[in-house]
Parts: sequence; structure tokens; C-alpha cells
Amino acid sequence: MRDSKPDPRTKYKRVVLKLSGEVLRGGKSGDPIDGNTLLEVCSQVKEIYELGAQVCVVIGGGNIFRGVAASAKGMDRATGDYMGMLATVINGLAMQDALEQHDVVTRVVTAIEMRAVAEPFIRRRAIRHLEKGRVVIFAAGTGNPYFTTDTAAALRAMEIKADVILKGTKVDGIYTADPMLDSQATKYASISYLQVLERQLKVMDATAISLCMDNKLPIVVFNLRLPGNIRKVVLGEPIGTTVSN
Ligand code: UDP
Repeated sequence: MRDSKPDPRTKYKRVVLKLSGEVLRGGKSGDPIDGNTLLEVCSQVKEIYELGAQVCVVIGGGNIFRGVAASAKGMDRATGDYMGMLATVINGLAMQDALEQHDVVTRVVTAIEMRAVAEPFIRRRAIRHLEKGRVVIFAAGTGNPYFTTDTAAALRAMEIKADVILKGTKVDGIYTADPMLDSQATKYASISYLQVLERQLKVMDATAISLCMDNKLPIVVFNLRLPGNIRKVVLGEPIGTTVSN
């Protein structure tokens, strides 16, 4: 059961969890949305929900469709991007279903109106959902082509006055080089926004990083694949890499 008051140990009271669509893909099955993987991710979300944190999830769509990849094959870029945004709605609904199977109350909120499926984004209403203890799943990115769901996470975090963006990835933080390709790569415990931009570290896209920098919003990059990690981050344990000034 969720506590009515946040656990006093929580470092972050209101968080935006940014999940790439790829986190839902099954390792063995290779399905774009794998049932077991989805339940595993959602059980981690439930852990921070039970700590009493106010939780938003911004879900990507790259497991289903990416506009830039489609445009490289000749599709109009904006059309591809709208398809990508629709893909995030599919993922958002899948997450809603899995979270509700875990008895977590949710609302899917979309940047593109589709009232029969989810409610449109209205800033004050989204904040109200958080105050009432609902997990808010932001789908359809920013609603604009040429952007990404990383930028959507930064934008929504600013709008709802979140304390932090938690970026769950396949690796346990930001490295000097890609640790999958370079065995000499070392992990940063913390790093500045400018260093991320200058060194072109692939954390989030530059638009998202700049937005966070201008508004002093910290980002914690951590390994989502280790069970219990989101909870540890929310409790302030030194997990992953923190991007701040
Ligand atoms: N997209 C967009 N505008 C946005 C967010 C997303 O056009 O504000 C499109 C874009 O085509 C992108 C796709 O949706 O490739 C999926 O989003 P993203 O690549 O950010 O997903 P992720 O990599 O996080 O799974």
C-alpha cells in the first residue's frame, strides 16, 4: 500500500522518470513490448510510488517507431515523427495496464489530444493527479515533430516543478566512452551540463540537456536493469551519475 505521506528518507519528492521505449523490449522474445519486462519495470515504479514519491513517467517510442529512421528511408520527417509520438502512446497504455495490475493508480496524459484513449495534458490537472497520489504517464512526447521524448521529459519536469529527472538506461551511469565498446571507459559520479554538451556524451539530446541547464534541474542517469535501483536513487543513495551545475 502507498503511504499517505512521503517517506522522510526520500531525497526527491516529485520525480520524472524518463524511460526509453527500448526498456520495454524483451531480451529473449525480442518483442517490442515484452510482458515480463514490462511487469519488472512497473514493479520498480511501484516501489517508489510506495515510498510516497510523486511519480511521472515519460515514455519513449523507439521500440516501435522512430521518425528519423523512417525519414532516412524517404518518409516525410514530420509524418514519421507523428508516428513516433503515436508509438509512445501505445507504450504509455501498456505501462498503465501493467501498473494498474500492480494496484498503482495511473493517468495517461497525452500531448496530442485523443480523448477516447487518454486525457489531454493540462498542467494544473497533471499536478493535481500527482497530489492525489496518481502516477502520471506522459505520452506523445512534446506533441511536436523534430523533438524527442528526452526533451518532453525536461519540459514536463519544468512545468510540473519536479525535483529531478531520473533517466533509466542499460548502463549504470555516464562513462568517458561507451562502456560496451571501450573497456577503458570510466564512470563519472557527477558531471556538469556543459561537460555533457562539450564532450557530446550520449545521455540525453542537447535540447533536453540545455533546458535542464537553463532551469537547474538535476538529472540522474542510472541502470534500470538492476532491480531496486530506482528506489535507491529516490532515497538518495549514490547510484549512477548526477548531471547538475
Ligand atoms: N517524437 C517527436 N516529438 C516528441 C517526442 C517524440 O516527434 O516530442 C517522435 C520522434 O519521431 C521519435 C519518436 O517519437 O523518434 C520516439 O521518441 P524517442 O525517440 O524520444 O523515444 P525513445 O528513444 O526514448 O524510445
